[in-house]
Amino acid sequence: MSSTDEAGQDPAVRETPAVKATGAGTDRLLKTEDLTMQFGGLTAIDSVEFGVREGELRCLIGPNGAGKSTLLKLITGRHVPTEGKIYYDGTDVTDLDPHQRVREGIGMKFQVPSVFESLTAAENVRLPLQRVVEGDLTEQVAAALARVGLAEEARTEAADLSHGQQQRLEIGMAAALDPNLLLLDEPVAGLSVEERREVANLVTRLNDEGITFVVIEHDIDFVDRIADEVTVLHQGDVFREAEIEAIRNDDAVRKIYLGAE
Ligand code: ADP
Ligand code: MG
Repeated sequence: MSSTDEAGQDPAVRETPAVKATGAGTDRLLKTEDLTMQFGGLTAIDSVEFGVREGELRCLIGPNGAGKSTLLKLITGRHVPTEGKIYYDGTDVTDLDPHQRVREGIGMKFQVPSVFESLTAAENVRLPLQRVVEGDLTEQVAAALARVGLAEEARTEAADLSHGQQQRLEIGMAAALDPNLLLLDEPVAGLSVEERREVANLVTRLNDEGITFVVIEHDIDFVDRIADEVTVLHQGDVFREAEIEAIRNDDAVRKIYLGAE
């Protein structure tokens, strides 16, 4: 477990403004600085300093309404922050639009399902690809499906896939664009134990292949299976950041979950 102060943040990170100014010279692939998002009078994300190292598989947990989805949407550019900066690979990407960020290597699977049920698995994977790549995509589509274990379902309509297969298809749609950083919002919600295991294996395999992950998930056993380190978000701010064992045994973390449910 890394040493943390009362707020659960690494004091060393706070005391290096020269590094924070550019995000360069650190081992952070992603870094937010003073990131704030207000919806009217509601502060959903409150001066968040969040960072992920290259190659890491980070899980993001926290009670409903903590700001987890909003944080990921800020990183993808779907929301424009009220204040603060986002650095990716040493570059300030705060002003880039979502498509530019995809081209920079940031991919995301959203919480709300985005597969087209009347299209086949192959057609679904082709959609995001043809937005950024020209020409015949047959090979890329086949490779993307194989990567998530859906080669045999290429011609199956998404509506006829199991819930687990649909989740893997969504991950495949995001992974097809060859991201360096992949953000997954609740990839195993509503899945069976066996389907969860398949998604866990898929995510850890893609991570072994070099993709850095931030995964939002409530299922602590799933988190335990895949995570290197866990960030707990609470009321729009980082509450704790530690290895899963320490998070599991943290009474204050348990309390914020109980308080919210
Ligand atoms: P989580 O994913 O942790 O459950 P969210 O990031 O979805 O939380 O939401 C954080 C807070 O921001 C909640 O209070 C939610 O109601 C609010 N919120 C999220 N998105 C919007 C939006 N587009 N407009 C207004 N309020 C929002
Ligand atoms: Mg959410």
